[in-house]
Amino acid sequence: CGIVGYVGDRPAWPIVLEGLRRLEYRGYDSAGVAVLEPNGGLRLRKTVGRVHGLVDDFVGPTPLGLAGVGHTRWATHGRPSESNAHPHTDCSGTIAVAHNGIVENYLSLKADLKKRGHHFKSETDTEVISHLIEEGVLDGLTLQNAVLRMGSMVDGPQAVVAVQEGDQDSICALRLGHAGGVAVAHHQGQSIVSSDLPALLPLIGETGQLPVAFLEDGEAAVITRHGVTFLDSNGREVAKPMRPVTLED
Ligand code: GLU
Repeated sequence: CGIVGYVGDRPAWPIVLEGLRRLEYRGYDSAGVAVLEPNGGLRLRKTVGRVHGLVDDFVGPTPLGLAGVGHTRWATHGRPSESNAHPHTDCSGTIAVAHNGIVENYLSLKADLKKRGHHFKSETDTEVISHLIEEGVLDGLTLQNAVLRMGSMVDGPQAVVAVQEGDQDSICALRLGHAGGVAVAHHQGQSIVSSDLPALLPLIGETGQLPVAFLEDGEAAVITRHGVTFLDSNGREVAKPMRPVTLED
C-alpha cells in the first residue's frame, strides 16, 4: 500500500518512520521497516496495526543504519499478521523487499521455488519476489539485475523496493505496469524513494522544492546517497532528469 526508502547521511529509521506516518492516510493493516545496520546486518521490525507500533511494541535501541525501507500493508494475499507484514526476506535473510500490488502468478512461482528448495515464512504473494531476487544474486547477478530479472518473471502491476545485506549504500526500486507510482528524490547527499509524494518531505529544502523523478512502467532505479541511476527493463542506463516539485507540509 505504501513504500518508503531512504539512503543518506542521517539514520534511516526516523525518516522512514516519518514517511510511513505521512502515508497513513492511504489506509493499511500492518507496517514494517528493514534497516541496513552499520555492521552490515539487516534489522527488521514489523507490527500489526498503527505505524507507531513499530516504536511502542519494541524495547532496546532503535536501528542505526543510514539506509532502510519501510512499508504499510493493505493485505491482498495472507491475513494481516506480523509474519505477513513487509519487508519480506529470502531464505538467507539477506535481501529485504517491500511491495505494492499483486503478483498474479505467485502460486506457480512459489511452487517452482519450493521445488528448487526455497522455504517460505509468509502466506503473501510478495515473498516470491525476495526469493526470485535471491536466485538472481546466487546466479552472480548484481542486486539491480536480479531485481530486473525478477520483474520479467512476475505478472501484474506493482512497485518493489529491495535492499541487500552488506550493501549499506543503495536501494533498488522497480515499477511494473501502470498501477501506483514510484517517486525518487535526491537532495544534498540524501535520497528517498516512495510510492507517494508526502513521504519525500523530509528532504525538502528552504525553497519548498525538491528534485523528483517518477519511474515509468518497467523502469528500475539504483538509489544511493550520491545520486540515482535509472535503468530500462534491459538494465541499460536511461537519462531521466529530476524536475523540481513543490511540496507542502
Ligand atoms: N500483495 C501484497 C500483500 O498482500 C502487497 C499488498 C500491498 O500493496 O500493500 O502483502
